[in-house]
Amino acid sequence: MSEPYIIKMPQLSDTMTEGVVVSWEKKIGDKVSRGDIVATVETDKAIMDVEVFRDGWLSGPLAAVDSSVHVGEAIGYLVEAPELVQRHGEVGEAPPPSARDVPRKVDLEHGPDAKAGEPDGCVHVIKMPQLSDTMTEGVVVSWERQPGDRISRGDVVATVETDKAIMDVEVFRDGWLSGPMVAVDSTVHVGHPMAYLVEQAEQVVRDTAAAPQKKAAAAAPAPAASSAGVSTGAAPSLPLAAGVQPAPRPTNKAATPLARKLAASLYVNLNNLKGSGPSGEITAADVRRAQPVERPTEVAQAVPAHVMPEIQVPGHGRPMTAMEKAVTHSMTASLTMPTFRVTINAKQDALLKAAKKKGVSVTVAIAKACAEAIKNHPSINWAYQPVDKLVERAQVDIGMAVSADGGGLVVPVLRHCESRPLEELHESWKGLLDRARKRRLAPEEYANPTFMVSNMGMLGVSYFDAIPTPGTAAILAIAAAGPEGMPLTITADHRVVNGAEVALFLNTLKAKIEQPEEWMGPMGPAIPDGNWDYDVVVIGGGPGGEDCARDLAGHGLKVAMINDAPFPGGECLWRGCIPSKAWRAAADRLRDRAHDELLGVVGTNKAKLDWEKLEQHRRNVLEERGSMALKTDKGVKIDVIQGYASFETEHRVFVDTSGNSSDPHHRTPLGDGSAGRHITFGCAVIATGAPPFVPPIPGAREGVSAGGVLTSDTVWSLPKVPKRLGIVGGGAIGMEMAQIFQDFGSEVLLLERHERVLAEVEPEIARTLIAVLENDPRLTIATNAATKAIKGKAGAMTLVYETAAGEQRYKCDYVIMATGKRPVLEPLKLDNAGVAVENGVIKADSRCRTSVPHIFAVGDVIGGYMLAHTAGQQGRVAAATILGEDMQYDETKDSGVIFTRPEAGFVGLSMDQAKARGIDAAEVKVPLNIDAKAMITGETHGLIKIVADKATNKVIGVHLLADHTDTLIGEAVMMVSGGMTLEQVGNAIHPHPTQTELFGELARRLLSRLRRSKAKKTA
Ligand SMILES: Cc1cc2nc3c(=O)[nH]c(=O)nc-3n(C[C@H](O)[C@H](O)[C@H](O)COP(=O)(O)OP(=O)(O)OC[C@H]3O[C@@H](n4cnc5c(N)ncnc54)[C@H](O)[C@@H]3O)c2cc1C
Repeated sequence: MSEPYIIKMPQLSDTMTEGVVVSWEKKIGDKVSRGDIVATVETDKAIMDVEVFRDGWLSGPLAAVDSSVHVGEAIGYLVEAPELVQRHGEVGEAPPPSARDVPRKVDLEHGPDAKAGEPDGCVHVIKMPQLSDTMTEGVVVSWERQPGDRISRGDVVATVETDKAIMDVEVFRDGWLSGPMVAVDSTVHVGHPMAYLVEQAEQVVRDTAAAPQKKAAAAAPAPAASSAGVSTGAAPSLPLAAGVQPAPRPTNKAATPLARKLAASLYVNLNNLKGSGPSGEITAADVRRAQPVERPTEVAQAVPAHVMPEIQVPGHGRPMTAMEKAVTHSMTASLTMPTFRVTINAKQDALLKAAKKKGVSVTVAIAKACAEAIKNHPSINWAYQPVDKLVERAQVDIGMAVSADGGGLVVPVLRHCESRPLEELHESWKGLLDRARKRRLAPEEYANPTFMVSNMGMLGVSYFDAIPTPGTAAILAIAAAGPEGMPLTITADHRVVNGAEVALFLNTLKAKIEQPEEWMGPMGPAIPDGNWDYDVVVIGGGPGGEDCARDLAGHGLKVAMINDAPFPGGECLWRGCIPSKAWRAAADRLRDRAHDELLGVVGTNKAKLDWEKLEQHRRNVLEERGSMALKTDKGVKIDVIQGYASFETEHRVFVDTSGNSSDPHHRTPLGDGSAGRHITFGCAVIATGAPPFVPPIPGAREGVSAGGVLTSDTVWSLPKVPKRLGIVGGGAIGMEMAQIFQDFGSEVLLLERHERVLAEVEPEIARTLIAVLENDPRLTIATNAATKAIKGKAGAMTLVYETAAGEQRYKCDYVIMATGKRPVLEPLKLDNAGVAVENGVIKADSRCRTSVPHIFAVGDVIGGYMLAHTAGQQGRVAAATILGEDMQYDETKDSGVIFTRPEAGFVGLSMDQAKARGIDAAEVKVPLNIDAKAMITGETHGLIKIVADKATNKVIGVHLLADHTDTLIGEAVMMVSGGMTLEQVGNAIHPHPTQTELFGELARRLLSRLRRSKAKKTA
C-alpha cells in the first residue's frame, strides 16, 4: 500500500447521489481492520454504516461531520503505517486547500466566509432535508424546539410536510438552536436554510418571523444605560413587565439592553425606531416615545392609542364619562390617518322596497349591501397597521353609529356581514340596537369593526362626511335623498386605499343599492303582466338555452325555444364537447396501447386508425343525441321553433326562417329576413353562444374562407388525418386538438403567444402538463411565440411565427386557429330591447339578469368560463330567477376538465385566487407517482392538490393533473359545492384500491398540518 487507500462515500441506495457524514466511529491514527465500521453517513433514506474492507491506519484529511459528499468522492484515507498518518484534517477541521480527493464541503462550514443570513457563531445550518425522492420543497409544520434550546445530536427540531407525509427533521450536531428561523407554514426548497445551530447560548438569534434573509446585526457591545435620554425609572403608565425577556436585537442598528427590555414590555418593534443615542443607538427614551406601538389586543388598553401635546384650556372641566373618553381617544388617534373623501349618489327606492318586502331594516340592508360590495373591493375592509403593514381581512364587521338614549354616540358592530343571511343580520341588529341605546353593549359588541357606516340621512342632512378610526380603512356617510338620490360619502385612509379604488367601490355599492334583487334574491316571479305569445322565449338551443327551457316548461310556463339549427345541442353537441371527445376516445385507444406492454400484454401496439369509421361513428353519436334531445324537448312541451331570432322591442322578437337548413353538422348562415314570424314574450333568455374568433393575423381569415385554415366550426370536415398540423392558441381547444392529432400520427406544432398555456388552469398543474407533453414524440409546444402570418392553400400551408430565436416558418397541411371564442351580437339587435353589452359580451349579474329586468342571458354569450356545464347551470339560474326563486351562479365553485392526457382539471379556487379574495388558504398536494393504481397502469404523471380555507377547514379548491380526472373530479366537485370540511373528506371511507383514496389522504395530511401549526401558535 504505497499510495493511501481512499475511503469513498459509498452508494448505499439506488437513488443516492450524495451522503452526509453523520459521525466518525474511528479517530485519525486508529488501527482499522477489514470489516470495521469507520463512519456513519446519512443517505436519502436512512443513516448507514461505512465499512472498510482493508487493514490500515485511519488518516486525514477526513470529511467533516455534517458535510455532504458526493458518491465516489473521498471521505478519508487508510495508510500502511502509523508514521504515515496525516494528522491535520481532524474531524471538524477544514482540510488543507491543496488536498486532492478531498470531499467537497457544502454550506455547512462556517467562519470568516459565513453566508448571509447566518447568525454569529453558526456551527450548523439546518436545511430543508430531502425526505423523499420526489421532494423538491417542504412546508414547515411545527418547530419542536425553541430558539435558545440546547440541541443534541439526534434531536428532532421541527416537522415538515413533504409531498408524501409529515416527517421529523433531525439534526446530527450539537449546538444552540438559533434564528433566523423560517415561519411555520412557510414553504422551503430542499437544501435551503430553515434555522441554525450556534456555538454558544449568547449567540442565539430569536427571530422566528421569516425565512432568513440577511445576516443578523452584530451584537454591538451594549452601552451603559446612562446614554442620553435614558432614565432607568420607567413612567408609571409604562412599567417594565417582571421577568420579561429583552426584545430581539433590531436589524442593522443597536439598542441598549434597557431599551430592548422596555421594548419587550411595551411590544415596541425596535426595527421601526430611530435611535437618538450615540451612533443612532436606540435608547429606552426612544422606546418610550415610540408611537404607534405594536401590542396584542389584550394589553392594548395599557397605553393610550395616541399621545398628543396637551393644550391649556381655561375653565374647570368635568371628567369625561368612559364613553366620551373612548370616542375622544379614538377621534384623536384618527388624526394620524391621511384621509380623503369621495361621494356618489344612489337611488334608494328599490332598496327601501326590497327591505320592506323582506321585513328587514334599511340600515341592515345597507350594511349587507356594503358587505356585498366589499366582496368585489376587499381592500376597503383592510386596515393600516403601524408600521408599514396592512391587515387584510375577509370578515366584514360593520360598525354603525347609533345615538344612545340621553345623548352620546355608540357604535355597535354587526359581525360577519359578508356571510350571514340578511334575515339573521336583522335579528342580531335588533338586539344590538336595543342594548346600544341603553348603553348596555358588551365589549365584544362594539370592539374592532372592520368598516363603518354613519346614516344621518334619517336626520335630514343633505350632505356630511364622517371620520374613520384607526383599525378601519373607511367609513360611509349616508345623507338624506335629494333629486339625484342619496349622497354616499366615503372617507378613506389613503395608506390603505386610493381614490380610484374607493370610486370603484362606491360604483359597486350604488349598483347593489339600486338593484338589490341581485344579492337579496328575487322579490317574486319576473314575468310582467301582459298578453304575451309566450311567458318566456329562450333564444338558442345549446346547453344553456335547453336546460333553461326545460326547467321553465317543467314549472308549467308557456315556453318557446328558438334555435337556428334543425336540432338542439348547440356547439357542445355539434362542434364542441361531444365530437372532440369522440376523437379523444379513439386517440386514447391508440395511446393506451403503450401501457399494454408494461402489463405484459404484447402484440397490441400495432393499432391503426380507420378515419372513415371513426367519422361515421362520431356523426352517428351526434345525430342520435340530437334527435333524442329534440324528442325530449317536445315531450316536456317546449315549442321548439327553428329560425334566427332578433329583438324588435323589449317584448318582441322576429324569427327569421329564410336561412333554415336541414344540415345539423354545420353552423347555419344568417338568412335574408324574407320569411319569418313575430313573437311577443314576457321574459326572454339569450343563450346564443360564441362562435370561434379568428384574429386579424395576415392570411388567417382569408385562409378560413379558402379552407387551409380551420376553426372549431370547420375542423370536422377534414377529409383525413393531416400529416403535419399547425395550431395557433394554447387554450383548452388548441391543447386538446394538438394532442389528439399527435396521437393520430400527425406532426403537430402548437404556438401560444403568452408565457403559459391554459390560463384557467392552476399554474403548477399547467406547468406540469407542459412538461409531460414534452414526452409526446410528435408534439411541439412553443410558448411566447407570436404568429405573424399564415400562407398557402389547404395541404400546403406555412405558419410564420416569431420566438426569442427570431422569425421561423413551419410547413404543414392545415392550420387550426384555436384563438378563442367571441359572441356575435350585432344580428341580435340588442339595442331594440336596451340590453347592455360590456367588453364584447352581454352584461349579466350572478342571477343571469341583463340590464333589462325581464331579459336574461346565459352561457358563452355572457363570457366567463365558456363551458357547457357553466352554460347549463346559468340556464337553470335564469329559470329559477324568472320563477321567483333564489339561486345564483357561483363562479368560485365552477369546474372544468381539459381532455389532454393526462387530463387537467379544476374545481373552485387556486391559492392565488383564494388570496385575491382575501381568504387565508393552505394547500396540500400529492404526486401521482406514489399512487399504487397509477403505478400499476403506468399512468404516473401529474398531481392532485387540495386548497382549504384555514378559518373553516372547508375545501375551496381541488386541482388535478391525472389520467381519469374526468371521473376523479366528481368527488372534488361535491367537496367544493357542498362546502365539505377537511374533517369530512378525511373521515369519508374511500374504497381501496382506488385513486379516490388520495382525497382522504390529502385531507388528513392538511388537517394534521393545520392542527399542529395552530397548536404551536396558541402554545
Ligand atoms: C372543440 C370544442 C370542444 C369543447 N369541449 C368542451 C368540453 O369538453 N367541455 C365543456 O364544458 N365545454 C366544451 N366546449 C365549450 C362548449 O361547447 C360551450 O361552452 C357550450 O356549447 C356553450 O353553450 P351555450 O348554450 O352558451 O351556446 P351554444 O352551445 O353555442 O348554443 C347556442 C345555440 O344558439 C344558436 N343561435 C345563436 N344565435 C341564435 C339566434 N339569434 N337565434 C336562434 N338561435 C341562435 C346557435 O346556433 C347554437 O345552436 C367545447 C367547445 C369546442 C369548440
